[in-house]
Amino acid sequence: MTDFGKINGKVVVITGGARGIGLATATRLQQLGAKIAIGDVDETAVKQSGTDHDFDHYGRVDVTDQQSFSSFLDEVERALGPVDVLINNAGIMPTGKVVDEPDALTRRIIDINVYGVILGSKLALARMLPRRSGHIINIASLAGETHIPGLATYNATKHAVLGFTDTLREEYRDTGVSFSSVLPTLTNTELGSGVSAPKLMRPAEPEEIAEAIAKLLVTPKSKVRVTKVAGAISQVVGLLPESVGDAIGRALGAQQTFLGDVDSAARKAYEERVRSGTE
Ligand code: NAD
Repeated sequence: MTDFGKINGKVVVITGGARGIGLATATRLQQLGAKIAIGDVDETAVKQSGTDHDFDHYGRVDVTDQQSFSSFLDEVERALGPVDVLINNAGIMPTGKVVDEPDALTRRIIDINVYGVILGSKLALARMLPRRSGHIINIASLAGETHIPGLATYNATKHAVLGFTDTLREEYRDTGVSFSSVLPTLTNTELGSGVSAPKLMRPAEPEEIAEAIAKLLVTPKSKVRVTKVAGAISQVVGLLPESVGDAIGRALGAQQTFLGDVDSAARKAYEERVRSGTE
């Protein structure tokens, strides 16, 4: 039995918390008694979610901007006390062939998905190390352990998040600060709109990722994969010779999942949001 009582009173900061996995996580941890601060670059959405859910603190943060991120953490600490947990969740996933990806977009994916996670981890570490306590949770993806056509830059960023987080775990061993990576499968949020999961891999609900994160807060682990089935498939495929693994990926339909099989009408609003440069 998980002792969720341990979460009560913890100060938890979640980036990209206005919607999707971040919002589901904030909601679940609030139910478990945590003090919740959500930050998001989408000011309208973060205010809406903050007031709708009566979170303890909410505001605009751009995870790619040192000043913005650092001031947000300062505000949270003034309002709620020392940050116990930082969940680096903000991320974007434009789809398409890499040769068609505008350079500015390539840089933004890397900026948000990688630099934002590194920056957040550094800022949180500087606060947590002197206290000898804290937990940094970085939202990667099963795409961090696999390679999926149509997601080349995104794949690269999630591989980077895993490498970075594993390194921190060793670099700050025995300091009292814990590090975890979360590897969700395709999840039903706006980020995954218009995309159907490959065979054998049902999409997850954001609440399932939230539950896995809640368990991580109680018992820190280096990695958690959600769903269990998708996680097991990706781990097994990763152990096989490359040609066999690639053939299995093709047999499951992964080759076209983020290219020809995308329902572009259903995905249009998301692609426009992340390509517009407003986040
Ligand atoms: P989402 O689009 O529903 O929510 C992401 C939030 O991040 C948005 O509210 C957006 O405004 C915010 N954001 C974007 N850029 C930001 C910035 N610079 N600063 C602060 N906030 C910013 O997406 P989601 O599905 O909830 O994804 C959350 C995380 O989970 C991402 O890191 C994503 O890569 C990862 N993930 C998602 C899936 C999936 O299928 N949905 C699967 C695996 C991993």
